[in-house]
Amino acid sequence: MIIDDRYYDVIIVGTGAGGGTLTRKLAEAGKKILVLEQGEFTEKESSELVEVEIFKKEDYHAPETWYDSAGEPFKPQMSYCVGGNTKIYSGVLLRLRERDFEEVQHQDGISPEWPLKYQDFEPYYTEAEKLYRACGKAGDDPTEPPRSEDYPFPPVDRIPQIEEIGDRLSKYELHPAYLPIGIGDEGRTDAEDTGVSPAIRAGLDVTLKTSAKVVALHTNPSGREVKAVEAQIKGQSYLFMGHIVVVACGAINSAALLLRSANEKHPQGLANSSDLVGRNLMKQLMTVILQRSPQPNSGLFQRTMYVNDFYWGDKDFPYPMGHVQDSGGILQDVIFSESPPILSVAAKLMPGFSLKQLAKSSLGWWLQTEDLPDPNNRVSLSENKLHLNYTPNNLEAHDRLLYRWQEVLKATDKESLGIHPYGTVPIQVVAHQCGTCRFGEDPKSSVLDLNCRTHDVDNLYIVDSSFFPSSAAVSPALTVIANALRVAEHLIEQLN
Ligand SMILES: Cc1cc2nc3c(=O)[nH]c(=O)nc-3n(C[C@H](O)[C@H](O)[C@H](O)COP(=O)(O)OP(=O)(O)OC[C@H]3O[C@@H](n4cnc5c(N)ncnc54)[C@H](O)[C@@H]3O)c2cc1C
Repeated sequence: MIIDDRYYDVIIVGTGAGGGTLTRKLAEAGKKILVLEQGEFTEKESSELVEVEIFKKEDYHAPETWYDSAGEPFKPQMSYCVGGNTKIYSGVLLRLRERDFEEVQHQDGISPEWPLKYQDFEPYYTEAEKLYRACGKAGDDPTEPPRSEDYPFPPVDRIPQIEEIGDRLSKYELHPAYLPIGIGDEGRTDAEDTGVSPAIRAGLDVTLKTSAKVVALHTNPSGREVKAVEAQIKGQSYLFMGHIVVVACGAINSAALLLRSANEKHPQGLANSSDLVGRNLMKQLMTVILQRSPQPNSGLFQRTMYVNDFYWGDKDFPYPMGHVQDSGGILQDVIFSESPPILSVAAKLMPGFSLKQLAKSSLGWWLQTEDLPDPNNRVSLSENKLHLNYTPNNLEAHDRLLYRWQEVLKATDKESLGIHPYGTVPIQVVAHQCGTCRFGEDPKSSVLDLNCRTHDVDNLYIVDSSFFPSSAAVSPALTVIANALRVAEHLIEQLN
């Protein structure tokens, strides 16, 4: 065991939307930071994925095997690298809606109230949009929450095929809106090029160790403080020490790390007196639908349109149904390769050329519905293997959205003869994972306090998608980023 002799202000584990953003903010405030990331720098930028390669390769899966409720093994679709999942994400930067922070009755149960409200997050959403260079246009979507400032950059131009479909949707009395996405000088912004790397380039006090997998957090004898962070780096065990420890491994891996760090004072897992660590895993219900492209397209364009007309329900269904966004060019959509039957099956059989032709004559739509927190949907460990027990709920709301969107496509796209193949994502798509260490005021019903500090361990924080009490139906990354900026302010105060 090698013991690092530096003492850090903050040790951050993970460099995704949460950890990467926090690193930059704390480093700019002059703090001495150690960042431990199990992956390496990746050469592939999220915006330069290699066309049909996506459909054929396992590059976009973590080099790990997890197990589903039936004990079946699978490889999660996750990116372990500097920048985390933002390295392969689509760059959509949406705010949660105001009502997402309130208790909402869904067809299948209650979506719980958040302990903080939209107005508490608003200034951080604004800061996050500036930092990640959100390109968007406010005002087209009736569900949009109030904003203190306009988007920092104008929306990305739509390709003519999407523009044409938008016109048809407007004539059908829907409200297609510009999908906000983060675009920098080198394509989509992510937590590496916007979070970690600028902090290192600026010569701030950041020590980044890659290929550093944190395997345990060790507490002092009272169990109230993390004394040391144990990591495996190239086959060697290291111990690192710091004043504050922030876990930002993503909702599933953060919960797993806490469970793995059980000790005498924390027999059910670190900071788990509530028995909630790993529970209430949500990942949204997601289906993709294909539509014929009015004219062939490149297969490689950004997502630019969303429709929230059914977000809170429909004339004959008074419960939330969800969010619809165009998939952008299918050939660069990582999740796409997992799900639509015609493309994923075809990918295994077809030469790249034919697959490309098929993809270029298609457009896709992502349908996202909120899934509800259920304590039985959980991350657990058995013989050190990671299990995801996840039974989807709120299915009728998602089916309603699917049928409604098929109806819309039939009505607005007569040439397609009503043929719109669709596929629902399998367990290995954990892109929108959240909720495994929810925040709240009561230590009995939450793992984290309002500053995302664990109730049980004084210097331990979790700053990733784990803190969500509900999943909402819009994409989660901007909320993870905004929350990291919010918690950063608190940490800077604590350290000053
Ligand atoms: C294909 C895809 C497309 C997506 N598209 C969008 C989108 O367009 N818009 C949107 O809002 N969201 C999108 N998402 C979701 C978004 O990427 C996540 O919500 C966001 O990245 C979550 O941030 P995080 O900090 O919780 O975790 P992550 O970004 O997953 O980062 C976690 C990091 O921790 C590291 N780590 C884990 N365990 C350890 C350990 N033990 N030791 C050291 N390091 C560790 C990982 O390697 C990783 O780098 C997408 C996700 C995927 C996979």
